[in-house]
Amino acid sequence: MTQRVFNFSAGPAVLPLEVLQHAQEDLLALPGVGSSILEISHRGETFKEILDAAEANLRQLLGIPDNYRIVFLQGGSRLQFSMIPMNLLNGKSADYITTGSWGEKAFQEARREGPVRLAWDGKSSNYNCVPTNDELDLDAEALYVYFTSNETIQGVQFSKEPQTGSVPLVCDASSDFLSRPVDIARYGLLYACAQKNAGPAGVTVVIIRDDLVPEPDEKMAGMLSYQNHIKNKSCFNTPPTFGVYIVKLVTEWLIHTVGGLEKMHALNRQKANLLYSAIDTSDGFYTSHAKLDCRSLMNVTFQLSNADLTPQFIEQAKERDLCNLKGHRSVGGIRASIYNAMPREGVERLAEFMDAFRSANR
Ligand SMILES: *Cc1c(COP(=O)(O)O)cnc(C)c1O
Repeated sequence: MTQRVFNFSAGPAVLPLEVLQHAQEDLLALPGVGSSILEISHRGETFKEILDAAEANLRQLLGIPDNYRIVFLQGGSRLQFSMIPMNLLNGKSADYITTGSWGEKAFQEARREGPVRLAWDGKSSNYNCVPTNDELDLDAEALYVYFTSNETIQGVQFSKEPQTGSVPLVCDASSDFLSRPVDIARYGLLYACAQKNAGPAGVTVVIIRDDLVPEPDEKMAGMLSYQNHIKNKSCFNTPPTFGVYIVKLVTEWLIHTVGGLEKMHALNRQKANLLYSAIDTSDGFYTSHAKLDCRSLMNVTFQLSNADLTPQFIEQAKERDLCNLKGHRSVGGIRASIYNAMPREGVERLAEFMDAFRSANR
């Protein structure tokens, strides 16, 4: 087999080896079908079973109540930035909490669709924290409160949902979906593109409470209507069949190999702690971008006190098969994305390298 490296890419990102092997084995022909997932109709029984299994696995893992619909869409999270306000606003207003670049982009798109407000904005501190509930400026009449549970670029994560009274939460969970248990009943809508933690690029999972699904709207384009996708069970047009298939395998891996989201969360906490303790015991050689109480378990962002050493850090890490560690240009430094599928061994190797690099360069 070609040598696999430890891939710390922010997305598309590492997938479980077991999932890739399973997909590889079945790539010439699904058992009993004689054709591969890439070659069969989305209208046939085989694909329907795959889609139903992916949905059932998600319901089981997240404990999704019966009054929520699940659809598998295309267009990535970016399309959700527009579809959400298009479908839900109906001339009224919504509140946005922006704790990083993705929330900011979602807010800018929503402004095209209706009179949305900022309930809190972390831009002035370059998005290194999340608000307390007291800091939120909420409108009790808002149709929803939007937030990003994990900001992938800044490495800032909510450890608990913001409190919004009776106003439903809408969440971009793209980069921490399936990394921990979530109480879906607190949400009006939760969505995630798959390419961070749940599968390949090309499929986006949207979970929506059924009373929020708008009535059919003659003027709305069919592809943009939740109602339409729900009515057609994600098959209004050809869905991303391969992506849905991989989501099915990833969710099977979470259920059977990992043992559920509580276990996944514990593993993710252990992995993140290895890196944060390498930062915290470095005597200031490394500094975390995110404040202590909102450090992400998925994207660990940090700077070297001597920024001139950053390219060497990245180069020497790569020589040890620790790849794709360069931080996003808006934050600089290093970003280690350690999603569900990053093995603990990769994180241990990175923590060891961080210590060794510090000793050699202090
Ligand atoms: C990656 C990411 C996006 C953008 O996803 P696309 O599928 O490229 O549109 C949006 N939000 C978050 C939190 C992300 O991590």
